[in-house]
Amino acid sequence: MPGASALERRVRSELQRLDDDGLRRTLRAPTGLDLSSNDYLNLATHPRLVARFAEAVQLEGCGSTGSRLLRGERAAFAAIETRFAAFKQAERALYFSSGYLANLAVLTALTATGDVVFSDQRNHASLIDGLRLSRATVVVFPHNDITALKRLIEARRPRPPAVTFIVVESLYSMDGDRAPLGELAALCAGEGITLIVDEAHAVGVCGPRGSGLIEENGLDAAACLSVNTAGKALGAAGAFVAGPMWAIDYLVQRARPFVFSTAAPPAIAAAIGASLDIVAAEPERRTTLRARARHLRRRLRSAGIEVVDDDGHIVPVVIGDNARAVAVAASLQAGGFDVRAIRPPTVPPGTARLRVSVNAGLSESSLDAFAGLLAATLRTGIPCFAASS
Ligand code: PMP
Repeated sequence: MPGASALERRVRSELQRLDDDGLRRTLRAPTGLDLSSNDYLNLATHPRLVARFAEAVQLEGCGSTGSRLLRGERAAFAAIETRFAAFKQAERALYFSSGYLANLAVLTALTATGDVVFSDQRNHASLIDGLRLSRATVVVFPHNDITALKRLIEARRPRPPAVTFIVVESLYSMDGDRAPLGELAALCAGEGITLIVDEAHAVGVCGPRGSGLIEENGLDAAACLSVNTAGKALGAAGAFVAGPMWAIDYLVQRARPFVFSTAAPPAIAAAIGASLDIVAAEPERRTTLRARARHLRRRLRSAGIEVVDDDGHIVPVVIGDNARAVAVAASLQAGGFDVRAIRPPTVPPGTARLRVSVNAGLSESSLDAFAGLLAATLRTGIPCFAASS
């Protein structure tokens, strides 16, 4: 590469390495039956959300014009935060323009030098990045392993006034399994540890009222600090941090993603209001989602495909090899099914997989057709090829 800058050479060689390892990604607009989005309740295109969003844009305009602490504040944000806090049975909630930013906010603003944070090994990148930016000491514990966690806590007690935290997802995004929230909450209560729960994939879907796994596990919601995305089951965008008044008051003062970023378009608050109405009024969406997920798992298992025996709506099918996972996904896409391959570093090396996410609108017959094609594709022993998507 004569004439190329040092940066260009480095970047080109890194891209080549991604190609060689079957890890090069391409952007691909959705076509085919949705088996990969997080729109679990089919709310993103629901006429009521669309109408409320459009009406609010007419009233409020597009952009918020500033950060919440300046000219970006609107009554609609405060109103949806009050409503969301009641939904979570928390004292207060604060809206962020994405879940990624909400996680960065919580983990950087509420932790301090000397604190120790125990973080589940399978936590989402936004939690990992939040902890990288924090000044706390981070200890990663084996996924969902309470015994190992207790041993690590025993060995790493910070000296007061330093604080200890445990950070988990309630429903893991790539494995579809659940954190042992009851045991974690009991451990935290006994040890004076603060538990932070990312409910990204549970809010709207789990719990009798659909507020998430904190509710489903009967935890003291008023004592919990949680991050709840609005861009997945709620079909909109952004995320709420819900928790005690003092914690949320402090985030308004100190959370840099809140203070130093332009507020989201205010109309999004109206769309989230519509999705909370639907979550409250139509519990059958949650029941149908669970039933469809159970159906798919049954079908996959009877076709000899290994899946965890669960009724969670995220169904990982582990393939292993990166290029093979991409090839299997490509074959299913060609058959009309929009399923995506998930590769490292999103999942551990050697566990590339299809992350099949079920939504309530899928029919049993379409899931049967998908399971049939997946089984046939796996049987044909798709060859590995250089990944292209
Ligand atoms: N937490 C988890 C567990 C997630 O899966 C995601 C998104 N995939 C986020 C946080 C980030 O949320 P957002 O997409 O709203 O930034």
